[in-house]
Amino acid sequence: METYVNSYPLFATATDPVYIGTGGYTIGRVDNTIVRDPITRIPKIPGSSICGTWRYFMALHLQGCFQENDTVHYRSEREIRKGVNLTDIFRSDSPEWARTFEGNRYAAVKCAGSDDLPNESIIGMKSFKSGHCGHCIVCKIFGFSKQDRSEQGLAAFSDLNILFFPVYTRLGTRWITSEQILLDSGFIAEKTESLTNEKIAVSEQDSREKFLNLGWLNLETQQRETSLDLSNCNGLDDKDVIIVPDSLIAQIINSNLEVRTSVAIDPNTGAAKKGALFTLEAIPRATWFYGKINLFNRPGNELEIENIYKALNDSKHYYETLGIGGMTTRGFGRLKMKLTTENTESTEKKL
Ligand SMILES: [Zn+2]
Repeated sequence: METYVNSYPLFATATDPVYIGTGGYTIGRVDNTIVRDPITRIPKIPGSSICGTWRYFMALHLQGCFQENDTVHYRSEREIRKGVNLTDIFRSDSPEWARTFEGNRYAAVKCAGSDDLPNESIIGMKSFKSGHCGHCIVCKIFGFSKQDRSEQGLAAFSDLNILFFPVYTRLGTRWITSEQILLDSGFIAEKTESLTNEKIAVSEQDSREKFLNLGWLNLETQQRETSLDLSNCNGLDDKDVIIVPDSLIAQIINSNLEVRTSVAIDPNTGAAKKGALFTLEAIPRATWFYGKINLFNRPGNELEIENIYKALNDSKHYYETLGIGGMTTRGFGRLKMKLTTENTESTEKKL
């Protein structure tokens, strides 16, 4: 049977605090709040943030694949590349998805971000004006909408939800999760811990303590039954994982977020501006996230799913340096991503 949608699990760990603001209101103790799941109230990184940044990172990566004599000016004059051999446009050491995909000859950095000329036709039809080109791998994977042609992107990004959240305890840092989260992320097939509201499931070693504090909450321990395969969470130790009741996890996460207080600087004096003190909250460093990318094998589409996967995989490293969300110039937002081919649903063919 032909499969049309392949699903790839995505794991991420925050190497900086992550701030994805709501751009909204002052609620409670912080001025600048972050995006949360409306039902669980647990903070998350929305799929729209992942999609927008990844589009930009892939467009950047593709720009790096052009021959060095293909100057910035040349790149912006996309008409000139028409009829030139792809081998004369792309470097021979660039990845296959860049140097062999015919539509990439029209690629520019403007294929990322929002289209500044959506009312133009796609490049080559009537004009060579800028905006999304409508041909390159970036436009195909993330979609485009031009005057005469629109295409839905071939990749769909889920939100990145919290998988393991670091909390300070008197025994050191532990990473909390809940059975519902483990179930949703495919780590367990069923709930077996039977946790009551006041108990937490800890490693054998930690269970020697009758009570353990998670931040300011002191909770009774019991030994954890669930065994976890943490091969996708490099560096996380199974004995540091604590399963807390589903009913408590949002409360524990929200009371252990990083809260920073900053002050605006008055440019005239170089000192703190009066009345300009503000606070913001962020998801702390060392939080683990999980999500999913669905890749669409659209009938008749010339782009192979293997190349979509490779293009995503080759450009994800920009999250480690450029980051995501707000305050990236102030040490926020860097993530380490891991895209996997394991546990794929609805797929016969593995990469
Ligand atoms: Zn394009």
